[in-house]
Amino acid sequence: MSDNTIVYWAPPNEIAALNNTSKNMVTNKLVKTRLILDKILDNIKSGDKVAIKVHVGEALNTHYLRHDYVHEVVKAVKFLGAIPTLVETQGGGNHLEKIEIHDNYSICIGHRKNASEHQAIAKLHGYDVTIVGAPLKFIDGEKGIERKIIEINGITLKSVSVAKYLYNYDKLLVISHFKGHPQAGFGGALKQLGIGCVTKHNKHLAHADDMLKINERKCDISQCKQECISSCPVKAIKIENEKAFIDAELCYGCFMCFLNCPIKRAIKKPKRNEINEFTDRFIDSATAVISSFGAKNIRYINFALDIPLMCDCVPNPGMVVVPDLGIFGSSDPVAIDKACFDAETKAPGLPILKQDGQWTKPLEKGVEKFKAMLGMLNPIRQFEAALQNKIGSTDYELIQI
Ligand code: SF4
Ligand code: SF4
Repeated sequence: MSDNTIVYWAPPNEIAALNNTSKNMVTNKLVKTRLILDKILDNIKSGDKVAIKVHVGEALNTHYLRHDYVHEVVKAVKFLGAIPTLVETQGGGNHLEKIEIHDNYSICIGHRKNASEHQAIAKLHGYDVTIVGAPLKFIDGEKGIERKIIEINGITLKSVSVAKYLYNYDKLLVISHFKGHPQAGFGGALKQLGIGCVTKHNKHLAHADDMLKINERKCDISQCKQECISSCPVKAIKIENEKAFIDAELCYGCFMCFLNCPIKRAIKKPKRNEINEFTDRFIDSATAVISSFGAKNIRYINFALDIPLMCDCVPNPGMVVVPDLGIFGSSDPVAIDKACFDAETKAPGLPILKQDGQWTKPLEKGVEKFKAMLGMLNPIRQFEAALQNKIGSTDYELIQI
């Protein structure tokens, strides 16, 4: 794969040959997955330890990428004599929360904040060695905070906490489910790198403008048992001049100090980032992953199938809003996401069933669906920021498989 700007594409077309099963097999999406992998895995050699970055989906989400595709990827890596391991990082956003539906029925969301809960959801969703043929490892450790700090000259970030155990591997193969996202506009390869391969420190800094801070006017150690200090899992808080102080480099935004401090407003919560700031920061984080791991060591496969408006991190991502667009493969994370984005824009929309029982009029071809449906988004900011950081190209050649 000499030209980085090539994006291979297996379209989702079908042959209506129900009476000819063997012929119909060539349109099978698992076969197409393998055909794409055959084009992009030229950088993997026998004996390589290959990290396959996955997202196992939040509990109760029904649109995450099904495990059959991951199994196909694992088989292709093994065929090359390499050693595949699924890798994942802990979720930073959803707090574990039990929601009562009625007297006999409650649901629980937010299962991906630590390894044991995350592992259980992964198994439920089929991301288990007995099913996909490779073990799942958490490259940011049990709590999602084990990191290697990478210095960069980013748009807003100068250092990024990349998941420490990513560097145990020789190659990285990023599997992304292309779909909408409530802040980024869409989620694809760039988001898998910039959110999916960093620790909670940088997941927090993507979503919020700063770390938690002490309000020196309110903090009063004579009125408390310094609960903030005892509740901090990373010892980021100490007392200086009779006031608590939070080390922003250590803090990863777990909010335990905030929840345990008995004095109202003694700890200040950060503001949520604006849309463009969120994007710029995770693109900076993606830049740190690429620069430290080596662009030539990374390959990308995007599954633009079963595409809802919301991401795999939420328990209810909503209805599918565009038809399946196919499977894409590249060595360029910008080109592959742009190819998916362009295909999404060119495709017709799908009607959505509203709560009043009426179906919406489908959006037309040529309309970018995610922005049209969630107006405040700015999906193209991902490309602008990625070009600014020089991590890929939006000028790609699409080759149909
Ligand atoms: S932040 Fe709260 S718990 Fe910590 S020292 Fe100040 S008042 Fe006490
Ligand atoms: S939010 Fe508070 S408890 Fe959590 S890591 Fe930061 S300083 Fe420590």
